[in-house]
Amino acid sequence: MIVTYSRNVFVPLTRNCRNRCAYCCFRTDELNLMKPEEVEKLLRTARNAKEALFTFGEKPDLRDDFKKELRKLGYKNFLDYIVDMNFLAIKNGLLPHTNAGVLSKEELKKLKPFNASMGLMLEQAVELECHAESPGKRPELRINTIRCAGKLQIPFTTGILIGIGEKTYDREYSIEVILEIHKNYGHIQEVIIQNFMPKKGTKMENWKPVSEEEMVDVVKFARKILPKDVAIQVPPNLVKDLEIFLRAGANDVGGISDVTPDYINPEAPWPSIDLIVSKLKDFVFMERLPIYPKFVKLKWYSEIVGGLIEKYSNADGYARSL
Ligand code: SF4
Repeated sequence: MIVTYSRNVFVPLTRNCRNRCAYCCFRTDELNLMKPEEVEKLLRTARNAKEALFTFGEKPDLRDDFKKELRKLGYKNFLDYIVDMNFLAIKNGLLPHTNAGVLSKEELKKLKPFNASMGLMLEQAVELECHAESPGKRPELRINTIRCAGKLQIPFTTGILIGIGEKTYDREYSIEVILEIHKNYGHIQEVIIQNFMPKKGTKMENWKPVSEEEMVDVVKFARKILPKDVAIQVPPNLVKDLEIFLRAGANDVGGISDVTPDYINPEAPWPSIDLIVSKLKDFVFMERLPIYPKFVKLKWYSEIVGGLIEKYSNADGYARSL
């Protein structure tokens, strides 16, 4: 069985966020925005990487001091800044994948040409207490963003976060919601099944993480109902025994970075891909780009990122060995 991964560099443009998820250790109240020169320095450290993963807080520009900081850097708004940082990645030979939180169709349309793919975790399709102070975690808003990405033919990554107060049937319902959206637009390239890990200093620091059995059940359910060309990703730094999940139907281990940590789960370092490959000899590991092979072949990309996609992909749409 083929299992894919992407070599990336993680670029956390800002830790400011309008939401206050009860499990988050990434968000900060202190003004926080990477300067373009800091972004470029980080991008240049990316050995072997083909993907620049832009993940950051949602709508930080609702703060006046953040807007002021943007203006100091010469930007009228946050979207213009993101586009510029995406372009910086492209100039440095990296394919952007942006996860900017809830966006409108117009905002997605602006980012689309500068991204090989984009993403937004659905998390759960039901309202949960841990999101009581997170307006951007309202399921209908996230579903709308995922739908709009489909209308715009943006190869899209989504997923669910497990163990944050949902019931077992909520997990299944959330995957069914993703499936229904995908049936309409065909743009979902992967579904991440991520287990919540309690973080010190957060409101949920004493919560019990979900068991491996529960996680495996969700992976099996997702594999049963999702089409074969939608990959199921399990983060290899958050599970103890990756093999169990691959045998249950997961077939992607996501982005792995040689140079940057998982800023969202800093306590969990990524294992090296060489280590994973050496341990799991029954599986064939293939490097992919942030845009999945199916969408490479369908050419769901702009001319701006097309040059790099064509340079980096082989005839099957996977990453070419350079
Ligand atoms: S988890 Fe994401 S959306 Fe929630 S507070 Fe943290 S950065 Fe914001």
